[in-house]
Amino acid sequence: MYNADVIIVGAGPAGSACAWKLKQYGMRALLLDKEPFPRLKSCAGWITPGVLGDLQINPGNYPHGLTHFSRYLITIKKMRFRLKTNQYAIRRIEFDSWLLQRSEAEFAVHQVRQIEKNDNGFVIDGRFSAMYLVGAGGTNCPVY
Ligand SMILES: Cc1cc2nc3c(=O)[nH]c(=O)nc-3n(C[C@H](O)[C@H](O)[C@H](O)COP(=O)(O)OP(=O)(O)OC[C@H]3O[C@@H](n4cnc5c(N)ncnc54)[C@H](O)[C@@H]3O)c2cc1C
Repeated sequence: MYNADVIIVGAGPAGSACAWKLKQYGMRALLLDKEPFPRLKSCAGWITPGVLGDLQINPGNYPHGLTHFSRYLITIKKMRFRLKTNQYAIRRIEFDSWLLQRSEAEFAVHQVRQIEKNDNGFVIDGRFSAMYLVGAGGTNCPVY
């Protein structure tokens, strides 16, 4: 049985950000994801300055493609508007994998099917155990 302080199901941005933060507080997290990384994720890749701020990402230090948008062009029939903005876009295949690496958490490719609770915490599929369990598996997260 593999034991960690915290098991996080799902290694997307939510799971990786959680593992990265836990490490700063000295906790050992194990990330489980059914997909090996880098993995494909349907997404427009639009992120706000708030996301970069929360994840403490300096755009100048991000090692992959990052596009900055300073204005929108909105067209409604024959009318056109320009609006100022301050937004970014990334590619999820790069972004999610980079966040996972940056977290320095242990990672295992494993599809979570069965979760049991006992006096010591949680056991996942009879193979992984931890006192704490975090659900970050997206829309159909098995923890939920
Ligand atoms: C078409 C589309 C466009 C989008 N465009 C944008 C955008 O431009 N900007 C934006 O901010 N958001 C956008 N989103 C939303 C964005 O993709 C999600 O909000 C984001 O991915 C959520 O991150 P997450 O880490 O919570 O979950 P996810 O990124 O979904 O990660 C969940 C992970 O859990 C894993 N998992 C699931 N079940 C299990 C299991 N049983 N066992 C193990 N692992 C499991 C999955 O493999 C996955 O890697 C878009 C979404 C779609 C569908």
